Amino acid sequence: MSGSPDRLDGRVALVTGGSRGIGQAIAIELAASGASVVLTYRGGVQGAEETEKRIREAGGTARAAQCDVSDLAAVEALVKQTVADLGGLDIVVNNAGITADQLILRMKAEDFDSVVATNLRGTWNVCKAAARPLLKAREAGRIINLSSVVAGMGNAGQSNYAATKGGVEALTRSLAKELGSRGITVNAVAPGFIETAMTDALPDEVRARLLEQIPVGRLGSVEDVARVVRFLATDAAAYITGQVIPVNGGLD
Ligand code: NDP
Repeated sequence: MSGSPDRLDGRVALVTGGSRGIGQAIAIELAASGASVVLTYRGGVQGAEETEKRIREAGGTARAAQCDVSDLAAVEALVKQTVADLGGLDIVVNNAGITADQLILRMKAEDFDSVVATNLRGTWNVCKAAARPLLKAREAGRIINLSSVVAGMGNAGQSNYAATKGGVEALTRSLAKELGSRGITVNAVAPGFIETAMTDALPDEVRARLLEQIPVGRLGSVEDVARVVRFLATDAAAYITGQVIPVNGGLD
């Protein structure tokens, strides 16, 4: 442990899916706390370059890298490159995620498989590739996985997505047990409905009904999620592991 327990100076962070939305906010937040950030994207090069530019303009260190998290070999190559270039890897944020919503009668098997490949297998791929460098990071080592309120609640039309997020939570608890003795913490953050391109598209009446169910009366912001991820990444959260932290304005 080093310096202020609330800072991340000298730490190296890998954030998957940093080209927009929640992942972009997480990359910015970690970099603002002093971490050097590698942020990945699959196809959204423009967004990833925008994240990198915003961090650099604020005086931080960032690098955007193309990497499909469902491809283990590509993930291993990225982790190797990160360690070679930046001297190690301390913090991993598994944020990359997709949806392919449909009621089960109409959902195709490919829609199940593609969501599993990115959300669940992708998270496992990154954890597997990062495990060795994280062991070297010892007490600074952090894995933070993005789950969702729907893992606990269920959601019609999201049988594939909700199943992957339930899996991510079980993976989180298992890795916390494997890695805890080495000082590495593994936690998940489960956002509720967050203002992103996805929720912008909701029809007004759906949005109004949703707001009625959220005790704090608003959708979350990407910063609401990013600040909790940042906290979990710091030494201040060293004694929290195997937990799923809801960030949902009271919706459940
Ligand atoms: P977005 O759709 O805005 O962004 C998804 C990010 O993931 C993009 O950067 C995208 O890259 C990247 N990505 C997608 N598939 C892959 C892949 N196979 N390999 C690498 N990168 C990939 O998502 P959100 O910001 O809305 O969500 C982020 C996380 O938070 C997800 O895990 C989601 O499930 C979770 N979440 C979101 C909620 C919300 O209300 N928005 C609520 C609860 C949970 P590219 O630009 O290249 O496509």
